[in-house]
Amino acid sequence: MEPNRQGEVWIYAEQEDGSLSEVVLELCGKARELADRLGVKTGAVLPGAGVGHLAANLIAHGADTVYTVDDPRLSHYQTSPYARVVSTLIQRRRPQIVIYGATPLGRDLAPRVASALRAGMTADCTDLEISDVVDPKTKVEHKNLLLQIRPAFGGNIIATIVNFDQWPQMATVREGVMAMKTPDPSRQGRSVEEKVEFDDGELALKLIKRHLEPRKINLKGARVIVAGGGGVGSRDNFKLIHDLAGAIAGAVGASRAAVDGGYIGKEHQIGQTGTTVRPALYIAVGISGAIQHRAGMEESAKIVAINKDPQAPIFSVAHYGIVGDFKQVIPMMIKAIKEKV
Ligand SMILES: Cc1cc2nc3c(=O)[nH]c(=O)nc-3n(C[C@H](O)[C@H](O)[C@H](O)COP(=O)(O)OP(=O)(O)OC[C@H]3O[C@@H](n4cnc5c(N)ncnc54)[C@H](O)[C@@H]3O)c2cc1C
Repeated sequence: MEPNRQGEVWIYAEQEDGSLSEVVLELCGKARELADRLGVKTGAVLPGAGVGHLAANLIAHGADTVYTVDDPRLSHYQTSPYARVVSTLIQRRRPQIVIYGATPLGRDLAPRVASALRAGMTADCTDLEISDVVDPKTKVEHKNLLLQIRPAFGGNIIATIVNFDQWPQMATVREGVMAMKTPDPSRQGRSVEEKVEFDDGELALKLIKRHLEPRKINLKGARVIVAGGGGVGSRDNFKLIHDLAGAIAGAVGASRAAVDGGYIGKEHQIGQTGTTVRPALYIAVGISGAIQHRAGMEESAKIVAINKDPQAPIFSVAHYGIVGDFKQVIPMMIKAIKEKV
């Protein structure tokens, strides 16, 4: 599509069983910020069955218009019909930016839409900004482009990706990376009902049965996290991490080295390829502080690091550092906590 500089900034309003995913509300705030910078409106695309009631929450979080496609055939997510909805609405309304959560669903949907529209798409962004960009080859200046910022080459560089000719500019953004803004229930917006036609091929897949595994751990929602790393050394030693977490009612996290070492399951991994967290308190035990780990935790309000190496990079992001062997430090901490309560 040709660039449309008056186009809105859209988010894909991912929902399942009538509940919006949290990242959508995080993205509403970011979309609002980008749209204000561009002097345009924000929109949210909301496909599903019986989902109209979600519009108010999207508006409270910053959407100006919610484009709802309410159709019983959209009761559960399926790639083809959902991609048809999003690409049809994009062609109809010509937004200039569309952002999606980098959830399993968003990662499935966004590339399909990009491919259908022959548009670009940057996966897993950690930041989005608006800026003028000069093409180094042609020296042509492009005004107000979306800077799609993400770590590349294993986190060793931060890449900024732009798309100045094949619009809309599209990106997925990892969960928990953008801070959720406080909703304003008095905000005014509009809800627009849209209709989209499907062909038989797009509806060929029939959902016969769903099996939902309950989530075992909620790292994103935890206020306190105690995370263990490669320095913990064994699954047995990792019990001390569970003990400290238990003493302060925290969740247990881990670095990739701890996961790869088999000390704990992958669902506990924090970092670039794990969960991004921003708890009130993050205690990093035997974690060196590699950039890929820090990418998932450095926004925590207070960081305490326990490491026997005073030069460990984790101390550069920690608010409090304890240089020592965790096998001695943790039992002392647990004892002190128990004496206080
Ligand atoms: C593409 C890519 C994605 C990645 N994604 C992630 C990710 O999501 N999350 C992640 O964590 N990593 C990720 N990594 C791996 C990352 O680069 C590091 O290898 C990893 O974070 C190291 O984990 P660690 O610091 O726990 O272990 P180590 O590097 O082994 O460090 C152990 C630390 O423990 C300290 N220590 C040792 N013994 C003790 C003791 N007795 N008491 C106190 N301290 C002690 C040491 O001084 C050291 O600082 C990724 C890498 C790549 C290339």
